[in-house]
Amino acid sequence: MNRYLAVSLLIGLELLQWVYAGWVYEEQVIMGTKVRAEVWHPEDAMAREGIRAVMAELRRIDRLMSPYNPDSELSRLNAQAADKPIAVAPELFDLVVRTLEFSRLTDGAFDITFASVGHLYDFRKQVKPTREAVDRTLSAVDYRKIRLDRRAGTIYFARPGMKLDLGGIAKGYAVDRALAILKHLDIQHALVSAGGDTGILGDRRGRPWVVAIRDPRFPEAIAAMLPMENEALSTSGDYERYFEQDGVRYHHILNPVTGEPAGKVRSVSVIGPDATTTDALSTGVFVMGVEQGMALIDKLPDIEAVIVDASGALFYSRGLADVRQ
Ligand code: ADP
Ligand code: MG
Repeated sequence: MNRYLAVSLLIGLELLQWVYAGWVYEEQVIMGTKVRAEVWHPEDAMAREGIRAVMAELRRIDRLMSPYNPDSELSRLNAQAADKPIAVAPELFDLVVRTLEFSRLTDGAFDITFASVGHLYDFRKQVKPTREAVDRTLSAVDYRKIRLDRRAGTIYFARPGMKLDLGGIAKGYAVDRALAILKHLDIQHALVSAGGDTGILGDRRGRPWVVAIRDPRFPEAIAAMLPMENEALSTSGDYERYFEQDGVRYHHILNPVTGEPAGKVRSVSVIGPDATTTDALSTGVFVMGVEQGMALIDKLPDIEAVIVDASGALFYSRGLADVRQ
């Protein structure tokens, strides 16, 4: 899945890490994507314990929020909440609340109710809905129709056919949770990534992690090299899950207004203080495109972005002016 990883950890001296005592590394497939954890602790056993805890946490979140697992809390909500308010785990409730903040911030470009239409696509089987089917379903795409009752802890969908999907934020959230658990275990240096979402705890023992942002169509071309510490980075691209039909690229980030794949850009990388934020913003800005998207990024403190538009041109947020290649 990560063949074209737009963001790869460019540690030219990757292998060197093995000579540093105390770094432990592991990769697994969880949440339908490659996840990796690198953890440092003076005692190897503690680093390994950290990695075990990270993987367990990612699996727990997947069980809670996977739209593919019919037993997940999210699937249960989707099956019933258009009929009546459904009580959900506080963690799911809180994450839905956070998604609504991003919906407002992006003027509806990030909208977890996109799934009402999104579920009509099957990227693995190369299935896309007809325009009529999309039009029939579009009225169920509207984050303002999610009714939350904090006291009762319930969620209700005020539109028939409404469905939620947290695919644009769950991996970033999982990365943040994993780093919080590592911190709790007194681990001060770690990197956790899930697909295109990466979170970094501390530094790389005396020097920053150096992250390369690559061009989605030319993986060998580096768009920017960024030193990172205690930060997160997310990339959304049109090359992760897609198929082509009649010269059109159908990919997994949908414009909630049209119900069709967003076509303005090829990839968006967002850097910020936490991965929940960068994940949601990379997806939202992908839909917004360069002009509107960059205007939003430049307005937000501590958030930077690199966008590759549909023609392959690169755009950097103001704070990145000095790292352009
Ligand atoms: P990935 O890391 O899987 O590439 P992204 O962060 O790029 O994920 O987000 C893509 C995912 O976000 C899609 O697979 C889908 O689950 C979800 N998504 C698609 N369109 C939207 C949208 N307009 N708003 C919120 N989430 C979306
Ligand atoms: Mg995202």
